[in-house]
Amino acid sequence: MGVKRAHVIGISASGQAAARLLLRHGWNVIASDRIERRQASEVVSELTAEGAIVFVGGHEIALEAEVDLAVLSPGIPLHAEVVKQLRERGIHIISELELGWRFCKGRIAAVTGSNGKTTTTALLGEMMSHSGHPSFTCGNIGLPLSEVADQTSPEALLSVEASSFQLMTTEDFKPDVAVLLNLSPDHLDWHGGFEEYAEAKARIWSNQGEDDWLVYCADDPAVVKLTRSARSGMFPFSLEERFEAGAFSTDGELIAALPDGSRFSFPRTELNLPGDHNVANALAALSAALLMGISPEAVREGIHGFKGYPHRLETVREKNGVIWINDSKATNVDAGLVALRAVKRPIILIAGGRAKGGGFRSLLKGPVERIKVAILMGEAAGEIRHDLEDEIKTYSAADMAEAVTMADEMAVPGDAVLLSPLCASFDMFRNYGDRGDVFRRLVMELPE
Ligand code: ADP
Repeated sequence: MGVKRAHVIGISASGQAAARLLLRHGWNVIASDRIERRQASEVVSELTAEGAIVFVGGHEIALEAEVDLAVLSPGIPLHAEVVKQLRERGIHIISELELGWRFCKGRIAAVTGSNGKTTTTALLGEMMSHSGHPSFTCGNIGLPLSEVADQTSPEALLSVEASSFQLMTTEDFKPDVAVLLNLSPDHLDWHGGFEEYAEAKARIWSNQGEDDWLVYCADDPAVVKLTRSARSGMFPFSLEERFEAGAFSTDGELIAALPDGSRFSFPRTELNLPGDHNVANALAALSAALLMGISPEAVREGIHGFKGYPHRLETVREKNGVIWINDSKATNVDAGLVALRAVKRPIILIAGGRAKGGGFRSLLKGPVERIKVAILMGEAAGEIRHDLEDEIKTYSAADMAEAVTMADEMAVPGDAVLLSPLCASFDMFRNYGDRGDVFRRLVMELPE
């Protein structure tokens, strides 16, 4: 058999990792991206030096090559023209996640859901890091599975964040433990409907058998319905119910009752993350860890050692009795509601940015009486004011600097200043991380 040839679509971090993995294993690699050369010259030179043939400014030329396999970077929608053309030619298409999985020798716990994936994946990774096994936290969280796959041994444990985008084009992907946190009708524009979105999530367990585990949220009816199709060993977690075999919370304890009859409990106070949603994330993570055979001591150290993930209800400063919280990742109203429920103080809310559609009135379902004032900025400021002003006093700020200064003047000891924008960031910032970094820097610069 001659040397095999692959076409890697997209040269983002995941595409690069996929190309390098294939090159290391002796494949011929063609990579293409829509990006213009001047924006990607470094990557193009590097990949070319490593042996790939790279085309930028469009996929057309690369599409003329005969290939045995196409690997899709996350973010390339299945309805993209390049995917359509590959399909018409009958070319086998897989995701970067599937590719990484094929070369991975370790045991994988994969986490999916609409919200909480990154937090849960990172917390589980922290537990694994105390297990004595080599461990990796990767996937959508920022380190492609294809990048670490070659470093794995059979002893390795991997905590992998799996987005629905990546799951859509998996084939044989079979994690030892799959985790489904929740399902909300997010990303519908991309997937063309809730059914299709849910089906993509279900691919996380579609190759599992009864020796594998599916950890799922029993409180979410859409999750329960979807998981009925699974053939996996089922392990529920819940904030409301208790189980003979499952994970739940009672009187300040997080409890896991394992199928073999063993039972472990962890004090809630050891979890340094606010809000019941994070208790749910922790129950999911500790279930996956224990089912993989990680010791309860390592699980406890992981819970205790995890300080949260940046931009998700991240306490950036405490000053004169006021806590300043960066929740820049709260880019929609649902995430804002979670924040309101978690921050049990009078709140000065900083919000605004680019609206995602659907309005802001559903925020009023939450404990909005906690919001003393909302300081609004960005394109959506007017719409947010219109939707909330009957219940919440609002002010306008020209930019983040003004919003932070205003909040500092208004806050009294016992308050929280919460950046939970309810919106995307692209009108004023590169991305949510940039927005959170600007907020954090401004807050750190405030005088005592
Ligand atoms: P994801 O990777 O799925 O986007 P993150 O951990 O980055 O999840 O959290 C994204 C947003 O969702 C944050 O604003 C966070 O506060 C909120 N969130 C985290 N966990 C949950 C959960 N279990 N249910 C609902 N919202 C959550």
